[in-house]
Amino acid sequence: MTQAQLINGKAVAEDLVTEVGRKAAAFTARYGVIPGLTVVLVGENAASEVYVRNKVRTTKAAGMNSNEHRLPAETSEADLLALVGKLNADSSVHGILVQLPLPAHVDAQKVLNAIAPEKDVDGFHPMNAGKLATGEKALVPCTPLGSVMLAKRVHPNLSGMEAVIIGRSNIVGKPVAQLLLMENCTVTIAHSRSRDLEAICRRADILVAAVGRPEMVRGSWIKPGATVIDVGINRITGEKGKSKLVGDVHFAEAMAVAGAVTPVPGGVGPMTIACLLSNTLDAAKMQMAAKA
Ligand code: NDP
Repeated sequence: MTQAQLINGKAVAEDLVTEVGRKAAAFTARYGVIPGLTVVLVGENAASEVYVRNKVRTTKAAGMNSNEHRLPAETSEADLLALVGKLNADSSVHGILVQLPLPAHVDAQKVLNAIAPEKDVDGFHPMNAGKLATGEKALVPCTPLGSVMLAKRVHPNLSGMEAVIIGRSNIVGKPVAQLLLMENCTVTIAHSRSRDLEAICRRADILVAAVGRPEMVRGSWIKPGATVIDVGINRITGEKGKSKLVGDVHFAEAMAVAGAVTPVPGGVGPMTIACLLSNTLDAAKMQMAAKA
């Protein structure tokens, strides 16, 4: 049986980090300023710790400044907002990332909305979401950006293709849909209330799964030859009780039907951090241009 092409997100992400590092060096040579990302982590969450560690390591590897603020779980919303205000005013900070989830007593949206839109490297501020929706230059959420880059590795020209996105969250599903629309795809967004999800998925030339349900998308849902971008990251208990990461797509079944598939791990995940660095450099460039 022929197998689908494996889309190696890790390799694509490494290339992107190298390219961003080269461009960051050119930026520093031109302006005498090193692009800087500041990550704010509130409380102790094992997964967030891993993400933040990877973000810091990759930012440094690209020759950019990386700072962290680690705050205790009981930090008040007011104190967090005050820190964001301080970072907004600090010209050495070009990108601010507040790691989600935040503790329940903090209104996460209020904190995200307080980040200066030009430093919002996660692209979650309503100003950036609105600009993306209207086709203006914006800081675009990293995971959607990385997902579409991987789809374009298989099909550099996505124009006219049927794209189906399962999931309509503000951080993944909706921005992926906006980006694919900008690529001139015919876009369908499916969600938990969609009827006959399987039939909708079978229409897709590009199928993006951003659901958070382990291996929900089966091989029979996939159009032969389609490109499958699996955004999901789910920890499950595998054979012999060992925990392992799987996506929202049944990988083995997808590989037997699709034309190309992103694996989990090693697909969209690494692209997210690479795009974060790319956004930080873009943010630094926009801030320098605004000063000129
Ligand atoms: P959300 O929980 O915010 O959204 C999930 C979406 O899936 C919702 O729109 C929901 O529909 C839809 N959904 C849930 N169940 C079904 C179902 N049975 N059938 C159809 N649709 C369904 O998740 P996120 O968007 O934040 O994340 C999605 C996945 O991506 C997660 O696994 C997450 O871990 C992963 N992720 C990976 C990242 C990476 O770096 N690779 C970064 C961010 C997320 P409805 O709106 O109707 O409830």
